[in-house]
Amino acid sequence: MSRPVSKQVAGRRLAGCVGAAVLLLAGGALAADGDDVPSATPSPAPPVFEILGEKVRAGRRLNLTLRMGESFAGAPMKIPVSVTHGTRPGPVTCLVAGIHGDELNGVEIVRRTVASTSPRKLRGVLVGVPIANLHGLQRGSRYLPDRRDLNRFFPGRRTGSAASRIADVLFRRIVRKCDLVLDFHTGSLRRTNLSQLRADLSDAGVVDLARRLGKMPVVNNAGRIGTLRRAATDIGIAAVTYEAGEPLRFDEDEIQRGVERTTKLLRELHLPTPAGDDPSFFGRTRWVRVDQGGILMSRVHLGDAVEPGDVLGTVTNPLNGEQTDVRAPFRGTLIGMAVNQVVIPGFAAYHLGITSAAAEAGPPETPDGAPEDDDAS
Ligand SMILES: [Zn+2]
Repeated sequence: MSRPVSKQVAGRRLAGCVGAAVLLLAGGALAADGDDVPSATPSPAPPVFEILGEKVRAGRRLNLTLRMGESFAGAPMKIPVSVTHGTRPGPVTCLVAGIHGDELNGVEIVRRTVASTSPRKLRGVLVGVPIANLHGLQRGSRYLPDRRDLNRFFPGRRTGSAASRIADVLFRRIVRKCDLVLDFHTGSLRRTNLSQLRADLSDAGVVDLARRLGKMPVVNNAGRIGTLRRAATDIGIAAVTYEAGEPLRFDEDEIQRGVERTTKLLRELHLPTPAGDDPSFFGRTRWVRVDQGGILMSRVHLGDAVEPGDVLGTVTNPLNGEQTDVRAPFRGTLIGMAVNQVVIPGFAAYHLGITSAAAEAGPPETPDGAPEDDDAS
């Protein structure tokens, strides 16, 4: 095993993980298990990292495959898993993308980040899983062939549904090996998301990871049960969901931003958590839905701050030309929105992030009292 830092810290191993690596690399005295070690030099990286039945030596990269089930024709479905073992100690960082098969930006963020990471300069281990849901990617679909959403079935079960079995393989054989997890997504179903993190900021390790990814908006919640992020965080792995753009598109700007942030994270794992302004933390989010059917055209852009009554977009009845404005019901920041399209009443068109301070002052209620699907991304 190549866990150069503790995974036994009071059930929240990542809270201490990166910090321990920092001290080790700074010539400090905190050892892997919290014992004092009289050493002034950094420990060498463990000689091998074991994963998927392979031993990856320090300074090497192996491109492996993980069998995730079978196709309708009985052929094995294998997904690529790239494992880069650095020459210096550090945590096991796992980049996962394509859990929703139509969400492409993360696929390219993971591929480019792995390709640009030299084992000689890496601290710890980098595991790249660019296409978690190969079934979905092949069909350009968010879902698995049984129409289930893979990101509702983690950690999965060996004898469960197809989705549960795939979740089990990914979680048991990859995710449990990780200290840090970044799960890349985009907006869902013809919606686009501002670059943002979904993170449980009650977890010190998650807070540290979020800060290391640079200043970007963070939606703070524990995550829906069944998501990879929630399942990983629940067993003490520091996991965040990284949202970037819209499905079925490779967006060069979003990809570049994602690669830059992830590469910076890997490069600076040994440094203290960056100081500076906290990112924008949104304690609550709410969807604004349209009440009329027709053609939705937006007037706002991702990242816009809106006030109650501001017009977000207009729905035009294609038969009689009648137009209806969609207005912001409360103050917020536009963290997700529909692309221009035809809609029916009830369609969730604009996703507003609400700062914690505003939420405490009187959070807006969901009109029908139903829980918002904040991880439908
Ligand atoms: Zn997604």
